[in-house]
Parts: sequence; C-alpha cells; structure tokens
Amino acid sequence: MTGTADPTRTTSTPSPTTGLRDVIVVGAGPTGLLLAGDLAAAGVPVTLVEKRPHRISNLSRAFAVHARTLEQLDARGLADELEARGQTLDRIRLFGRLTVRLDTLPSRFNHVLVIPQYEVEKVLERRAVEAGARFRYETEVTDIRQSGDTVTVEVRGPRGEGEPEELTAAYVVGADGHRSTVREAIGLPFPGRSVIRSVVLADVRLDEEPGTLLTGGAVGDAFAFLAPFGDGYHRVVGWLRGRDVPDSEPLELDEVREITRLALGRDYGMRDARWMSRFHSDERQAPAYRVGRVFLAGDAAHVHSPAGGQGMNTGLQDAANLGWKLAAVLGGHADPALLDTYQAERHPVGRSVLRSSGGIVRLAMAKYPWTLAFRSALTTFLDRVGPVRTRVIGQVTGIGYTYGAPRGAHRLVGTRVPDVALRSGRLHEALRGGRFVLIAPGSSRLHTAGDRTDRLTVEQWASDRRTTVLVRPDGYVAWAADDADGPAVEAALTAAVGAP
Ligand SMILES: Cc1cc2nc3c(=O)[nH]c(=O)nc-3n(C[C@H](O)[C@H](O)[C@H](O)COP(=O)(O)OP(=O)(O)OC[C@H]3O[C@@H](n4cnc5c(N)ncnc54)[C@H](O)[C@@H]3O)c2cc1C
Repeated sequence: MTGTADPTRTTSTPSPTTGLRDVIVVGAGPTGLLLAGDLAAAGVPVTLVEKRPHRISNLSRAFAVHARTLEQLDARGLADELEARGQTLDRIRLFGRLTVRLDTLPSRFNHVLVIPQYEVEKVLERRAVEAGARFRYETEVTDIRQSGDTVTVEVRGPRGEGEPEELTAAYVVGADGHRSTVREAIGLPFPGRSVIRSVVLADVRLDEEPGTLLTGGAVGDAFAFLAPFGDGYHRVVGWLRGRDVPDSEPLELDEVREITRLALGRDYGMRDARWMSRFHSDERQAPAYRVGRVFLAGDAAHVHSPAGGQGMNTGLQDAANLGWKLAAVLGGHADPALLDTYQAERHPVGRSVLRSSGGIVRLAMAKYPWTLAFRSALTTFLDRVGPVRTRVIGQVTGIGYTYGAPRGAHRLVGTRVPDVALRSGRLHEALRGGRFVLIAPGSSRLHTAGDRTDRLTVEQWASDRRTTVLVRPDGYVAWAADDADGPAVEAALTAAVGAP
C-alpha cells in the first residue's frame, strides 16, 4: 500500500452515530469498497461496516478484471496501477478450438487483466480511506429496521457477540456477499439453485508454460482452466464429473494435476501450490435490489458460476451505478425517484450475467452426445459468426451493456461512452472528479459549468463532432442532442444535474 491509508485507525475509534445524510455500506468486499470510495469522494458521510478483522485476505477468488471494470477503475485513476501489477491477456482459448480475441474490443482496455482479487481490494480500500470513508472492522450487522426517513442498523462485535449498538443512516447498502444479512433483514428471498459442485482451485507454478493465453478445455468428464497471474503463478480451476465431495474435504495437488491432465491433455508440471481450495457455486438473484431505503449490490444481489469471471466485475458495476445516484439525492440535486433507476438498470444486467455464466459452465460440463455436439457446433459458430461473437464478448467484458432510455430520447442515451478524446485530454480523466461531463462541439459557446461546478465538468470534443453529450458520472449517456442550442442544454442540465 502507498500513501497514508490506515483503515485500522478508524476501527479503534468508532464513528459517531450517523445522521440523515449518511450512508452505511455493509461489507468491505470489492463492491462495498468501491461504493464507499465513490460516496466519500462525493462528500457523503459514509461508514463501511465489516465483520472481518482488518486484513485483506490472500484468498484470491476472482482473478479476471474485464474491460468495462477497467474503464470504471480508469475513471477513478486506479487502472494503470492495477495493470502494472497484473498480467493483461488479449486472447482466451476455449474448448480447444475457439480463440476469443479481445484485442479488437472498442475500448482502451482491449484485454482482460488477470490479477488476484485482493490486489483490487487493496487499491479500492486505499482510495476509500483517502477519500474519508469511515471503516468499522470486526463489526457485524445483525439487524436492520426502517422507519420514515431513516434506517437503523444493529451491529455487534465479531461473530455477533457483545452488546448491540445502533447506527442510523439515510440509506444502507448491503454489499455483504452471498449470505447477506441485509437481504434477509429486509425480507428478500434469494431464489435459485446450485449450479456446480466440487470445483477445485489452485494457484501453482508450472514447469511448462501454456503460453500467454487463458487456456480452458473440457474433455469427457473433466474441464480445466488455466490463467497466468504474471507473478510466476497460474490459477487452475478444474472439475471432474462424479467427484462430488464437500468443500471442506482436503485437497491435494495430485487431484488438481489429474483433472488438468484429463481436461487439457497434460498437467504442465504444476507444483508449489500457494493456495488450494474447493468450492461450489449457486445461481441466484434477489427479485428486487431495493426495499425502501436499503439497497443490495454485488454478491448480496446476485451470484452465479465463476465461468466468464463476471462476479466481482458485476458487483463493481453495481457500485458504480448506485454511488453517484445516492450522492445526487443526498446532495439535494436529484429527485429520490432517481434511485429507482438502480434496480431498473442493474437487475436486467444481473439476470443476463446469470444466463451467460450459466451457459458457459453448462457447456463445459456437457455430458451427453447431443450436448457435446451442441458445444462443438456452438464453438464453431462463435468462431465464425462475428456479430454473435461480438455480442457474447460484449456481455462477458461488460462493454456491451446499455441502459434503457426514455421514449423519443436521442439514440445515444443509455449507452456507454468509451474513453473519447477531448480537447483537454480524455473522458476517463475528466470523469475522475465524480461529476457529470458535458461534451460540447468545439464551435459551441458552452465553456464553463456555471454554478454547477461541484457537479459538472464542461469539455469539448477533440474532433469536429457536432453532438452535445452529457455523460453521467458512471460513464453512460444521460442526454444527447445533435446541434443543441443553449436553452436545450440548460434544460437537460437542470433535469439531469440539478438546478444551478
Ligand atoms: C473461486 C471463485 C472464483 C471467482 N472468480 C471470479 C473472477 O474471475 N471474476 C469475477 O469477477 N468474479 C469471480 N468470483 C466471484 C467474486 O469473488 C465475487 O463475486 C466477489 O467477491 C463479490 O464481491 P462482493 O463485494 O459483492 O462480496 P464479498 O466479496 O463476498 O464481500 C462481502 C463482505 O461482507 C462481509 N459481511 C458479510 N456479512 C456481514 C455482516 N452481517 N456484517 C458485516 N460484514 C459482513 C464479508 O465479511 C465480506 O468481507 C469468483 C468467486 C469464486 C468463489
């Protein structure tokens, strides 16, 4: 870690009871850390409550950071640092014959970054601490009550022990993972089912390098996947049909070797496992992401198979979507109805991620001749048919998602804005203030944000584009118009950014 970040400092001096502008974020996983950082950076008093002691775990879990997440991290000035610590890969090879090329992605980040989840968490935590988020580690949320315009959160010491204490906030976000206490406290079910059991994971050294590609294969009753972390270790993920043991069953490297040999033809001389584990995965989604003043984000809202590496990425996108909306409402610049768009925008994405990750894992587990034939035909199809491949890659990398637009809106509304060139630099740099960015044509007389400088940055296209585009703090188009005049822009700003 660099800088002066010391989250343990705040652990020993608990924050005062929160008031009406406060947000409590429950869970210091990647989702909660990004959200707390965004809120604190926007000046919202935020307390992050985490039941673990302060220690970033070295359990890596997620290892893939996709293009859209890298764009979000870049819009917070964090992507370059993470890319320097991990390994970027521009191709994924699947099922022996399908090579997915990411180098044609229309993004500054036309690759996937392989890096342990704890490295992402370290950077997000440092940012949140530096922005002023208060951290309370070893503090477990045990209950939540809502009344009128406040939410009361009951917390206790580690493992729910000790005397209860009450914290009050205007809003609470449950980013407390798969077994979310927040979700249970607000009475939301988590329907779904187990999708795969007894998957083995190991971070190992390999005598024989499989190349720089992410390599995945499935033969007969086994599949395996290898990804290089760039620090001499590879992540191995493997599964063997019929070996159905509890996650607690000890795992030996020989078992990982055997599964890899069955699926990929060789074990690449794997040795020196620094971490091994078994896990199972469910496919579940909460029917709503909000009840009153309490929201769900990340694994608390949706879980799915790790195929496609979309879990952490989707949670980070949830956080990026919700943070600026809460800040706008709490700052008095937006109608509270804006908060309803969180569910409207993110729930369908969660559903789509469940479908795509479920589809990939079922293909990998294919057993019967017809499912194997289907897998073979599908991989050939994806290899040959560009538009379908582009769509699938857009979903997995997150850059293909757009949000709904009101009827009659400009065609760009709701779409993701890539890192376009501006006169003063590029969009992701302009977004680092956490504000809306109005991009006006070079010929326009719009040069300043007027009385909205706390919420708005005004930029001009580096090119001769004539469209005026208002970009939300999370990088999606809020409003756009071709040849807009001053009053039209002012009306759009008042609607989206708030009155001057
Ligand atoms: C083996 C494996 C591989 C994976 N690979 C990938 C991948 O390549 N790419 C990807 O994007 N995703 C991957 N994932 C998924 C990814 O790890 C999760 O989606 C991600 O950690 C979710 O982040 P989160 O912040 O929403 O929740 P979590 O990381 O689960 O964090 C929740 C936090 O809340 C805390 N908490 C829980 N209850 C309470 C309470 N009552 N009070 C206070 N604190 C509480 C917990 O201690 C925890 O720190 C993988 C998962 C697994 C298991």
